[in-house]
Amino acid sequence: MSEDIKNTEKGGISVEIEHIFPIIKKWLYSEKEIFLREIVSNACDAVTKLKRLSSLGEAQIEDENYKITVTIDKAARTLTVSDNGIGMTEDEVRRYICQIALSGALEFIEKYEGTESKDGTADGIIGHFGLGFYSAFMVSDTVDVITRSYTAESGVKWVCSEAGEYEITANYYRANRGTDVVMHIMESEAEFLDEYRIRGMLEKYCSFMPVEIYLINEDAEEKTDDDKPAEEPKPINDIHPLWQKAPSECTDEEYDQFYHKVFNDYREPLFHIHLNADYPLNFRGILYFPRIAHEYDSLEGQVKLYYNQVFVADNIKEVIPEFLLMLKGVLDCPELPLNVSRSYLQNSGYVAKISAHIVKKVADKLCSMYNLERENYENLWSDLKTFVEYGCLRDRKFYDRVKGAIIYATTDGKYVTLDEYLEKAKEKHEKTVYYTADITAQAQYISMFAAEGIDVVVLDKMIDTQFINIVEQENEGVKFVRIDADVAGALKADGSAEANEKLVEIFKEVSGNNDLKVSFELLKNEKIPAVLNISEETRRMEDMMKMYRMSGKDMGGMKFPTDITLIINAANPLIKRLSDTAEADEAKAKKLAKQVYTLALLAQRQLTADELQTFLADSFDILENI
Ligand code: ADP
Repeated sequence: MSEDIKNTEKGGISVEIEHIFPIIKKWLYSEKEIFLREIVSNACDAVTKLKRLSSLGEAQIEDENYKITVTIDKAARTLTVSDNGIGMTEDEVRRYICQIALSGALEFIEKYEGTESKDGTADGIIGHFGLGFYSAFMVSDTVDVITRSYTAESGVKWVCSEAGEYEITANYYRANRGTDVVMHIMESEAEFLDEYRIRGMLEKYCSFMPVEIYLINEDAEEKTDDDKPAEEPKPINDIHPLWQKAPSECTDEEYDQFYHKVFNDYREPLFHIHLNADYPLNFRGILYFPRIAHEYDSLEGQVKLYYNQVFVADNIKEVIPEFLLMLKGVLDCPELPLNVSRSYLQNSGYVAKISAHIVKKVADKLCSMYNLERENYENLWSDLKTFVEYGCLRDRKFYDRVKGAIIYATTDGKYVTLDEYLEKAKEKHEKTVYYTADITAQAQYISMFAAEGIDVVVLDKMIDTQFINIVEQENEGVKFVRIDADVAGALKADGSAEANEKLVEIFKEVSGNNDLKVSFELLKNEKIPAVLNISEETRRMEDMMKMYRMSGKDMGGMKFPTDITLIINAANPLIKRLSDTAEADEAKAKKLAKQVYTLALLAQRQLTADELQTFLADSFDILENI
């Protein structure tokens, strides 16, 4: 001990350091917990460096049992991170801890002093300036570093107070090589002595670090029953995360297990993509397609970004295109600095390339599934559809890449591509895709189309309206037409019908809609007296308005009159009779016309409460008189 004192030297961390601590605290206040990531990843680096020296034959290591231990000692109010890595000599402590780290700090101050901390920027700065180690001071009033280099016979102890004054003791006893960073936790930061809290932080940031990490709680240790056999301690982390393995060495079960564990999602993912980009991009990862069965399911996925197995952040929009944030997965980008600012990411050509590469891989996977396992692909389509459509809306390049793998479900349960649909239909109609937005409400129209041998695809989600706009823009001449928008066009028989002006007036009157157009046609199906035709354009406008309104946008009193035509089937016997009745008994004709109109309405959409009530009352009235 006396020798320690003799070797102790006092110093002050130069003038600049006085600025450091308050600024660290100010800047990092909201992201305090990253201090543990910084200290543990330094420990990890220390082990990795030693392993490397050993593999190069530059260090002879007998004990290869590399590990990191995080110890909570509530009684002593310390949190200690210990490693058996490379360690530091006294000279290295001076250089790396006192000088280099400080020069980083100085740069940091020059750049950021006087500016206000904004969300998300603070964590992007600290390590960038080599301040990682000093983040320990966000939670500690004193930090001790007890370290022994793999080349040295004894250790060094460095103790630094919150005010930046340090004491360095040479020839300090440490049994083996390695480093302990002992953080004397401040009174106000007691949460960082809580086992549950620390475990949570380690699981968040360190789950895949490449050196085993053990958590020890000194308090709990004392309390354990001596009679019970001690359980084999388990590391917090998995040092060989699946993404580091070659895809050919991974089984489907492993992919699924990894998914369940990392995302706490008990459902099976639909499928995965193992990313393995070599030079120059050099990043790895696994992306999963979660099930999105309902349009209103949360579409928020989770893509975790790692830097050499150290967790950096969730859902970094700059690295992963926004529409892919619906996916779940992990990305490990060792080419990105561990701590980077948002603006760096936004302006980095490298990041843009990663992002483009991911988009390409996702599209490739969809296309290869479509080409090689179409049946399976069709089975997954209802889950994939929303994602693919959303991706196409967000990124035309993505559309270009996946367009061959976009399929449409038909009302009879088949799946077709746009080309297949148009090819099959070309004798009946050209470049038109007929679709339904509601197979139940539009069942009558569907059966009319089926009778004509025209396929109808199902596009029943809100996003579909926007999506078909894109398909139309990208495929010249192609038009999507809802089955209630082209009744006359698709279902007309040969010949023409003459309008009965009296009936036209009657129908206008009973519909209560002055703008209603009434047109007499000969439809192929004689059984149907009348059917409504809603113009595709005005209806799409209205759909858009609905969507805006749902998303809370105020559209003022803006209203688009929907262009509705009531098509009267002149070939239908009831209509023929109605023409005569109109002359003979106008009141009766109106009653009949009202029913015919409401039935046409009913075949097109659900009735409103008022409409239904009147319809029922009128029907009872008619039944009574039969
Ligand atoms: P960075 O890790 O970005 O270099 P830090 O401030 O975190 O900056 O650390 C400064 C330096 O201190 C490191 O580069 C390393 O040389 C040294 N160091 C920190 N922790 C350890 C450790 N556990 N073992 C060995 N050296 C360490």
